[in-house]
Amino acid sequence: MSDLNSLYQEVILDHSKRPRNFHALENADHHANGFNPLCGDKVTIFLHLNGERIEDISFQGSGCAISTASASILTETLKGKTVSEAQALFEVFHKLVTGRSGDSNGGPPLGKLAVFAGVSEFPVRVKCASLAWHTLRSALDNSAAVASTE
Ligand code: ZN
Repeated sequence: MSDLNSLYQEVILDHSKRPRNFHALENADHHANGFNPLCGDKVTIFLHLNGERIEDISFQGSGCAISTASASILTETLKGKTVSEAQALFEVFHKLVTGRSGDSNGGPPLGKLAVFAGVSEFPVRVKCASLAWHTLRSALDNSAAVASTE
């Protein structure tokens, strides 16, 4: 298990140091800002949809390693997926980081998102890991309000 944990930590560190899709999106048709007051994490998610499909997705922001890595892996995971696939992944991811993954029967496979499993042991970090997802949800709703983890 400790080997797995260190592998997970390596992936998180890699994404926090070299975040993927870290830029504004010129042709974004949805975007939203998120803020986690507990840690000071800020993130903006940009989306370009083609019908139901997330054709392009990117983010900008500043925050701790967990929040940056989570946003980076989110964009990598969701590019090319449909909006309903993204929502299904949010459900599974949220259960994972809040330590309730035993509740889910089935659901889409987490893939690289599984690296955040250890976060469930640190309640403060749960908000860091889920900020980008809450922000994604407001971007899809086209909400003008700032998404907050509170
Ligand atoms: Zn944080």
